[in-house]
Amino acid sequence: MTFLTETEPKRGIALDVLPGIRRVVARNPSVMTYFGTNTYLISGDDGLTIIDPGPDDDQHVQDLLKAAAAEPITRLLLTHTHSDHLGATAKLQAATGARVYGYRHPAKAEFEPDVKLDDGSTVAGLTAVHTPGHAADHLSFAHHVPGTGEILFSGDHVMSWSSSIVSPPDGDMVDYYKSLELLLGRHDTVYLSGHGPLLRQPRDLVRQLLSHRQRREATILAALQAGQSSVAALAEQLYHKTDYRLKIAAQRNVLAHLLKLAHEGRVVQLEPEDVFAEPCINEDLPPEDAKSIKPAIAAMFLHDGARRFALAA
Ligand SMILES: [Zn+2]
Repeated sequence: MTFLTETEPKRGIALDVLPGIRRVVARNPSVMTYFGTNTYLISGDDGLTIIDPGPDDDQHVQDLLKAAAAEPITRLLLTHTHSDHLGATAKLQAATGARVYGYRHPAKAEFEPDVKLDDGSTVAGLTAVHTPGHAADHLSFAHHVPGTGEILFSGDHVMSWSSSIVSPPDGDMVDYYKSLELLLGRHDTVYLSGHGPLLRQPRDLVRQLLSHRQRREATILAALQAGQSSVAALAEQLYHKTDYRLKIAAQRNVLAHLLKLAHEGRVVQLEPEDVFAEPCINEDLPPEDAKSIKPAIAAMFLHDGARRFALAA
């Protein structure tokens, strides 16, 4: 797949993206987030609309207030409620009084948007497009930019720098395929994603993402020809990841594929393997990394890794 790279963006300032659109890159770089979350600032008649306040980081909130300068921050839109997008929302709202807009059914139980959006809702010249898959509450936002044309804030559904993780149960591979196909039916000329640089001719990448998943699905089915397998064993066999965060992501994606195939009646789920080990992602892990993994994630990794699937008879 042809993903884009960029040189490390300058921190603490708003970078010009397109006429009327700037971005501030949050200070949360990682193997999952590239240089960090993109927070977009869109200038409008009544002030700034912000897409994705970003992670819970006081410095990032300060960076955004500084970037806004004299323009009032009028509203905060969320593509989805993962912490690297939602985290700064409460603090930014407290500092600005802006209203928060998000999908009608947020995936985070403790969060409620002030204004509930549906597929097709419009706000400040942006049209919400419900694109579940990476997250059930994921919205993309379509916008017209004079001189550029139709653009789409694609969040983490389609990112310019990497494929997305689809982590069940909130992430759903059936939805993810449908949401990619939905974008293929649109005619946006540019995507601005939650991480990574501006993407032109975005449907080329959407097609590649879709065929990549179809190939992955075929390799999973081929691997199961040899006999039933656990999720952990399949992830190990098909992804060869060493970084523990990428190992976790690989396993989530394999499980998402298997649940899609089960939904389609092509595989069946068997009794899980017995789980004997203490929740430990990887015995080779440096102790400081092992400590940084939340126990709930470690337990999920262990238990979902032990789930077994076989080809349907
Ligand atoms: Zn993200």
